[in-house]
Formats: sequence, C-alpha cells, structure tokens
Amino acid sequence: MKTDIQIAQEAQMAHIRDVAKTAGIEEEELEFYGKYKAKLSEELWNRVKEEPDGKLVLVTAINPTPAGEGKTTITVGLGQAMTKLGKKAMIALREPSLGPCFGIKGGAAGGGYSQVVPMEDLNLHFTGDFHAITSANNLLAALLDNHIQQGNALQIDSRQVVWKRCLDMNDRNLRNIVVGLGSKMDGMVREDHFVITVASEIMAILCLAEDLNDLRTRLGKIIVAYNFAGEPVTADDLKATGAMTALLKDAIMPNLIQTLEHTPALVHGGPFANIAHGCNSVRATRMALKLSDITITEAGFGADLGAEKFFDIKCRKAGLHPDAVVLVATVRALKYNGGVAKADLGEENLEALKKGIVNLEKHIENIQKYGVPVVVTLNSFVTDTEAENEYIRRFCEEKGCEFALARVWEKGGEGGEELALKVLDTLEKKESNFHTLYEDDLSLEEKIETISKEIYGARGVIYEPAAKKQLAKIAELGFSNLPVCMAKNQYSLSDDAKKLGRPTDFDIHIREVYVSAGAGFVVVLTGAVMTMPGLPKVPAANGIDVAEDGTITGLF
Ligand code: ADP
Ligand code: MG
Repeated sequence: MKTDIQIAQEAQMAHIRDVAKTAGIEEEELEFYGKYKAKLSEELWNRVKEEPDGKLVLVTAINPTPAGEGKTTITVGLGQAMTKLGKKAMIALREPSLGPCFGIKGGAAGGGYSQVVPMEDLNLHFTGDFHAITSANNLLAALLDNHIQQGNALQIDSRQVVWKRCLDMNDRNLRNIVVGLGSKMDGMVREDHFVITVASEIMAILCLAEDLNDLRTRLGKIIVAYNFAGEPVTADDLKATGAMTALLKDAIMPNLIQTLEHTPALVHGGPFANIAHGCNSVRATRMALKLSDITITEAGFGADLGAEKFFDIKCRKAGLHPDAVVLVATVRALKYNGGVAKADLGEENLEALKKGIVNLEKHIENIQKYGVPVVVTLNSFVTDTEAENEYIRRFCEEKGCEFALARVWEKGGEGGEELALKVLDTLEKKESNFHTLYEDDLSLEEKIETISKEIYGARGVIYEPAAKKQLAKIAELGFSNLPVCMAKNQYSLSDDAKKLGRPTDFDIHIREVYVSAGAGFVVVLTGAVMTMPGLPKVPAANGIDVAEDGTITGLF
C-alpha cells in the first residue's frame, strides 16, 4: 500500500490556470503562487458576486477517535465523484496548521486517492496566510506592550491584558510565560500567554470577514485589555488596525489548488474546531457557491463541534443556507466507541458496533434539529466486513436517513459515486429547512445551556465562579446578542474526553468565558481544553525528512 505522500508525489498535477478554467476563472483573475497554487482576486469576486448560488453540502462526522474518520478524505472524494458524474463541483477546505502536522495527526490534505495537491506545500508554508495572521496578531501584542512602556496614556491595566501572542506550533512551554524581564528599557514585567495561531481571534476574523473593509472594522474592535476603570481597550485605541489590515491584505484572498483528479479546491483559513469555530473562510465558501453548482465543505472534528459552529456561527453570520449534510462514520470508530481497543479494531465485532452506534445516532438526531437532510456515509477501510457495513446501513435506513458506502480512499472519485448519487438525489428531493439552534436574543447562559443539552446531551451546566463573573461583565458590555463559540474536547460529546458513545447524566463545566468582539462571538471554555496544544512523546516531526533531491518524506 502506498502512503498518502507517495500517492500525492506521483500525481500528475495540471497547471492551476487550467484547473481554474474548468471553473470558469480567467487567467487574469488569478494571482499565481508558482504553477500549482493561486489566489483568487477581488476582480473575480466583483465579476461573479451577482451570480446565483449553487448548493451547499457540509461534510461532518461522528466524534473523532484515534482510529480516524476521514472527513477531508470524504470531502475530496465526493468532489471528485461529482466531477466524474459531470457535475460542476468545488471543494472548500481549511488550511492545515503546523501544530497537528508535527504532532499526532499529520497533515490535512485528505488521504489515499482522495487528496488535494500539492500536499507538501499545503501542509507546510502554503501561500503564507498563517504567517500573515501570526504577524498581525503579534504586531498587536507588540504595540500593546510598547504603549504601556511609553507612558500608558490609555491607562491599560497590565494585569488585565487579554490579548495573547501566537505561534503556529504545538509548544506547551509558551502557554504561560513572563515577558518584560530585564532593565527599565526592556518593558513592563507581566504574565503573558501564547495561543496556537489557529486559535487566534485574527484567524476567526479572517474566516468571517466579507471583504477588506469588513476585515478592518472587525480588527479594530478586538479587545486587547481593560483599563484601570475596567473599560475595554481595543486595537483601534492602539491605532493598530491599519497596519494589521496591511499585513492581511493578500491573506484574505482564497487559495485555489486541485484534487488528484483535478477538481478545483478552495483552501482558505484554518481555525481549529475545538478551540475556535472550525470552518474555512466565508469568502472561500461564497466564491465556491458562485463558481460551481455544488460546493462541498468540511467542518472540523465531530458534528457536536464543527457542524454546530458551522450552523450557529458561520451560516448565521454569513446568511448561508446549507442544503445537505454528509455525516461520516467508520466501522472502526464506532467499534472504538463501543469499547474495543485500538489494536483490535481490524476484527469483526458486531456486539461492539451495536454498542458504539449510539454515537452516530446522536449526531444524526442533532443535525435533524437544524432542519437539514442527512446522508450518512461509511468511510470504508479494507478491514471492514460485509456484516458490519450492512448493520450500519440498516440502522441508518431505520432512522430515516440516506446511507452510502464510500471507497474514495482506495479508489478516488470512482469509489464515491454511490455517495455522490445519494447526495444528488437528496439535493433534488429533500428540502432543507435550515434554521439555527438558538436565537440571537437569548442570554449567553441560555445559549450555552441550549447547546449543552440539545447537542451534547448534558443534564445541566456548572459555571466556575470566575466564568459567572466574566459572563456578567460581557453582558454588561453589551455583547449578549452574540453567538457562543464552545471550546470543548473533540473526543466525547461531554467535556470529559474519556466518556465515549452517547454519554448521559453528565454536566458541562464552564471554566472561562471571553468575548471575541472582532470575530463576533463569545468563547466559552469547557473542561480542560487547551488553546495552546503540546507535542506527544513521539511527535510526527521525528519521522519527517528531505531527500537530497528535495523530496519530502514522512509527511502524512
Ligand atoms: P479528518 O478530516 O476527519 O481529520 P482525514 O480525511 O484527514 O480525516 O483522514 C485522516 C487520516 O486517515 C489520513 O491519514 C487518511 O489517509 C486516513 N484515512 C482516511 N480514510 C481512510 C480509509 N478509508 N482507509 C485508510 N485510511 C484512511
Ligand atoms: Mg479534516
């Protein structure tokens, strides 16, 4: 069996100008980054913005397990299958972060014969968007500390600085640090923190901004600290907004690459779904809707995080109307949810499957709450058995949702035709009555409780005293009408990563709450979720190398 990177490196890529042409994009409407990557220009947007939208299909999944689910693989495979069937399809994905790439998960270009390429570029520096976001974030931090050093006219309380520095790396040693050590000329000493770039508010802003003007307005609203009177100090107050916008001017243009079968893919923005809102940029999704008949997009982690935020944050804010959801499950992950150890997942085990399928059941019910038709797809692994596949097929049919087996990892677009036909049939016959889970005018506590009970299946919500205070303060500042961005571990529907399947009789613990005024949501941290991850004992980085001819090995 070839590895993902071997398959990707053997691919015969088309020049990106030719891929663009299949989507009706002219050469002059592209900004080239070499032969295989391009950014889509503002001129293109201005030409197509009045066109009608195509259909929007979200790919999401059951709770992730170490066994892997393959949302990106399915998203890419489904796009390829649509192209094979003669449909005008476009894929919209997030850009990978270096954190997981060098940590446990590896890259995020899909897998097997359903990948986007060039995968090494995408997984490493790509078109520099993350560099731009990191720079804008850290410029704001530098301006803030400099302001304090230079006399602190805004009366910033250095104990109440909320803006954190960022880096696109899993580096736990930077979670809690002290800055400004040294002499008087070396700045004011204070405790500081780093977040991973994909958790930065600027990443969220870039992904939700409609255009350069909206980007600028949102950046200006970022709350960086509170003054001695407890009032917010913003990026605008620090006169940081213009320079930050300048750094992000190119980063807000969507990136175009291709799949192994030349289906166009927009890969843009990359907020994590556990600590941020988990979807690619609004601009990329909008562009894809204008340029194609079917846009297939992925939201991160399980549907309790990715899909919930796709619906309740991205679609709410951008006024998007999803037409169908593809819910990815694997036999292996369902067995894992049923208590089977990772090493034994290759063996048929219908008993464990029956136990673990409750996780899929809950996610089906959750998506139905949003009024969007669901197609369940089983991402087929070579170790899966016929009996296991049939069990899941029957379960889905009894639940009233469509089912399709997908062999896109093994066979590319051809292996996704059953799924593509089911999706096309759903788009044609089932109407989407999409609505968000909660209304804007509920209190923040009511929003948190609605998500916890309806989506996670929790009994109730327990607030730590600090979180209660923060919620009161955010309400007092007038941000109650914003949606909430829940930060929760991805492995369990609960806030305890060890509770698999469909846990019951649990509470959600709210540890910290803060407002991302520029992004336009209130972040709610539950359980022990981290905004700066660490590396595992044996990081994926240990296996990555470059051969003498420049070929990269060990990326996956
Ligand atoms: P997600 O988007 O859900 O995180 P990915 O699509 O990135 O998942 O897949 C994660 C990993 O699992 C990739 O390395 C991919 O090659 C592998 N994978 C996905 N589907 C299959 C499959 N059907 N058989 C074997 N490996 C797979
Ligand atoms: Mg993915």
